[in-house]
Amino acid sequence: MLFAEIAVEAGRGTDRDTYTYAVPPGIEVAPGHRVWVPFGRRSSIGYVVSLTTDEPEIEVKDIERGDPEPLLLPHQMEVARSVAEHYWAPLIECLRAMVPPRVRSGRSSGAGPSARQTRHSRLLTYARPTGPPQPGPPLTEDQARALETIRTTRAVLLRGVPASGKTEVYMAAAADALQQGLRVLVLVPEIALTPQLVERFCQRLGVPLAVLHSGLTDLERAQQWWRARRGEVDLVIGSRSAVFAPIPRLGLICVDEEGSPGFKQDRTPRYEAGWVARRLAESAGARLVLGSATPSVAVYSEARSGGLALAELPRRVQGRAAEVELVDMREELLRGNRMPLSRRLIETVEGALNNEEQVILFLNRRGAATFVQCRECGRSVQCLGCSVSMVQHLELDALSCHYCGYSRPLPAHCPYCGSIHIRVLGLGTQRLEGMVRKLWPAARVLRLDRDAARGPDAYFEIFEAFASRRADVLVGTQLVARGFDLEAVTAVGVVDADLPLHFPDYRSAEAAFALVTQVAGRAGRRGRPARVVVQTSNPDHYSLRHAQTGDYEAFYLDELPLRQAFSFPPYAQLAVLTYSHRDADKAATVAREAAESLAAALLRERIDGVLLQGPSPAFIHRLRGEYRWQLTLRGEGLPRVRRLAPRGRGWSYDVDPVT
Ligand SMILES: [Zn+2]
Ligand SMILES: [Zn+2]
Repeated sequence: MLFAEIAVEAGRGTDRDTYTYAVPPGIEVAPGHRVWVPFGRRSSIGYVVSLTTDEPEIEVKDIERGDPEPLLLPHQMEVARSVAEHYWAPLIECLRAMVPPRVRSGRSSGAGPSARQTRHSRLLTYARPTGPPQPGPPLTEDQARALETIRTTRAVLLRGVPASGKTEVYMAAAADALQQGLRVLVLVPEIALTPQLVERFCQRLGVPLAVLHSGLTDLERAQQWWRARRGEVDLVIGSRSAVFAPIPRLGLICVDEEGSPGFKQDRTPRYEAGWVARRLAESAGARLVLGSATPSVAVYSEARSGGLALAELPRRVQGRAAEVELVDMREELLRGNRMPLSRRLIETVEGALNNEEQVILFLNRRGAATFVQCRECGRSVQCLGCSVSMVQHLELDALSCHYCGYSRPLPAHCPYCGSIHIRVLGLGTQRLEGMVRKLWPAARVLRLDRDAARGPDAYFEIFEAFASRRADVLVGTQLVARGFDLEAVTAVGVVDADLPLHFPDYRSAEAAFALVTQVAGRAGRRGRPARVVVQTSNPDHYSLRHAQTGDYEAFYLDELPLRQAFSFPPYAQLAVLTYSHRDADKAATVAREAAESLAAALLRERIDGVLLQGPSPAFIHRLRGEYRWQLTLRGEGLPRVRRLAPRGRGWSYDVDPVT
C-alpha cells in the first residue's frame, strides 16, 4: 500500500504542513500532483509532497481522485520546501504561490486563448516572435569574458556599470542554453516598465516566450502559465512571481537588477525572488546569472568571498556617463531659498527647455513624512543602537526605531547641531508637478506615479507620450528610474535624495547609491551630453559621493563595516514577527507578552547568537484599521527559533524583511 503526504488547501491556517492519505488502487500520483482529498466534512484540493510505503500509525482516508499529470515539477516541489523553511511560511502557501488562481481552482485546463477574448495586455503583444532570430552585435571583450564565466560556473554575479550591455550577455547565455535544448527564465523587478526588454529577447532569440506578471488578467496568467508548463515556450520573462513558473528542462536563470526591492513579495510567503532563484537553480540544475550595476551588499560580499563567481563589465558600451552634480540644499536655505528646487536645478531645467530637450524630475516618495530631518545640518534623528532613521508615529506621539523598539519624544532641537529647523519631510509628486507648471508655464508636463499609472496600459501611454516628445517635463516616482533612456532627455533632477538616504531601513545607503547610479545611468545613454542634479542636505554622505563618481567598490568598502558594527546582513540574519489587532491596547499587550515568553523560551532552550528586540511599532504602525507591533530577531541560525515563535491569528513572519 502506498501513502502520500499531502499539503491540503483546506488545512491552511492549521499548524501542520501535510496530512497523510492512502493512495487507492487505480490512482497514480507523484510529488507535484494535484489531488482531491476528504478534509473534515468536505473535499479539498491538495498537492502531493511525498510518497511512502510506511504504514502510518493512525487510520487514514483515501485520496478521492487526482489529475492525470503532475501540476508541479519535481524541482518546484523542492523549491517550495526550501521557501517554506527559509521564510517560515506554511508549505501550502508556497505551493499556492506556484499555481495561478484560475489554474488552482480548476477553471483553466490550459486551452489556448478563446476567440471571444478580444483584449490582451499590451505587454503580451511584444512577446510574439515576428521572424527568425536576429544576430546581435559582436560581444565586447568584457562581455565575452563574462559569458565565459557563465559557461564555466554554476552561479555568477554579473556586475556591470549602467549601459555596459548586461542584456547582451543574458541573451548570449540564453542562446547557449537554447542550443542545448534547455529553457530560460529571465526575471526583472518591474516588467511592465520594461516592455522593450521583452521585445529585444523576442527578436534576438526568435523563440516562443511566455510573459508572467501581476498586471495580466487571471485568464491571461493561466494561459501563460500553461504554455510554460507544457513546454510550449522556450523562454519565460516575468517579474518576481515568475520565479515560481513551471519550466521543464530549465537550463538558465537570469535575474536582472539583483537586489531591487521589487523582488520582495510583501504577502505570505514573503520571499525574495533572487533568493528563490538561487534555490531554483540548484534544484533544477540550471545556471544562474544575477546581474546588477549596484548589487546588494550581502550578495556582493558573498561573491567576493567566493560563494558566487564574479564577472564584471566595467565599461559602458554606448553613450557617455552623465555628469552628476550634488547640490547642497543647506546652502539653499542659507541663501533664503525655501523652495524644494535649487537654483542649480532650475537653471539646468531651463537650459534643457531652451534647447528643446527633455527633462525628468525624479521624486522618491517612499519614506516621505516618516522621518524627521534637520534642515540646517541635514541629518535625521537616528536610533543610536541601529544607526537607522527613527520613524515618526503621530498616534504614539513619538519617534521610534522599528528594529529595536527604542523610542523617544520628538525633539524640539536637532540633536546634532541644536537647530530648531527640524521637521518632518515630504513633498508629493502632485505638488511638484504644480510647482513645475508654475515655474515653466510654456512647458508641457506629464506626471508618472502610482496614481497616474492606474490601469494596465496607463504606463505605456505616458511612456509613449514622453518618448514621442508630446511633453517636455516628466515628473515621476521610481517608475521613471527605469526604461526612460531617451535621447532627448538631457536634464535629470533627483529632487530629494535625502528620502532614500534616511529611509528607515538598514539598506537605506545602498538604496540611495543604487537610485542615483540608476538615474544617472539612464541619462546620456545615447549621444547627447546629459546632466544629473542630485539635491541633498547630505552631500558628504559616502553613498552619494560614491554614486556621483559611480564607484560601487568604494561604496561597498564604506558600507560593509557599518553592517558589521550594527549587526545587519551579511553579518546577521533578520526576521520580523508582526502582530496586528484592531484594538491598539490589545495589539501592544499581546506583542509585549509574546516578547517576554519568547525571550524566556530562548533562554530555556539555550539558543544563543540570536538577539530578540522589541516590541516596536511597525514601520507602518496602522494598516487597514489594525495596529501592528513587531518583534525583531537578529543573529545567526534563525531557523532554530521558528518553532518557538508566537503563532496564531494576527501573527505574521517576515524573514529577510524589506522595511
Ligand atoms: Zn541639525
Ligand atoms: Zn534601533
